[in-house]
Amino acid sequence: MKKSTTSTVYLIHLLRPLGNPNNRRGMASHYIGFAEHDLAARLERHRVGNGSRLMHAVAAAGIPWVLARTWEEGSRELERKLKSRKQASAFCPICRGEQEPPAGGRVIGKRVPMDSRPVQFYR
Ligand SMILES: [Zn+2]
Repeated sequence: MKKSTTSTVYLIHLLRPLGNPNNRRGMASHYIGFAEHDLAARLERHRVGNGSRLMHAVAAAGIPWVLARTWEEGSRELERKLKSRKQASAFCPICRGEQEPPAGGRVIGKRVPMDSRPVQFYR
């Protein structure tokens, strides 16, 4: 992935859904975010559990995830629009079958205990 210096809206696909503590009916399976300057740095923060409440919970639960899609020159407005649709799977290339999720063998740390399982990020 090229280092982005422009603002980017990005879609993260969780390889296992996360139970949403704020919404008992809801399971989160995606995260849509906005990176002002440096997407790679933003994703690295998510990987260690920073930058958003959801991604913190994802990291704490040891759920692997992938960057499914980016919108270059994205804006906060686009981020809001995408979030408001509530159906991230509709524009997720992995859910739509347009992009292969990472093969099981690539999910490093599959057999380590849950609490020490690293969150995966595929470049
Ligand atoms: Zn998806």
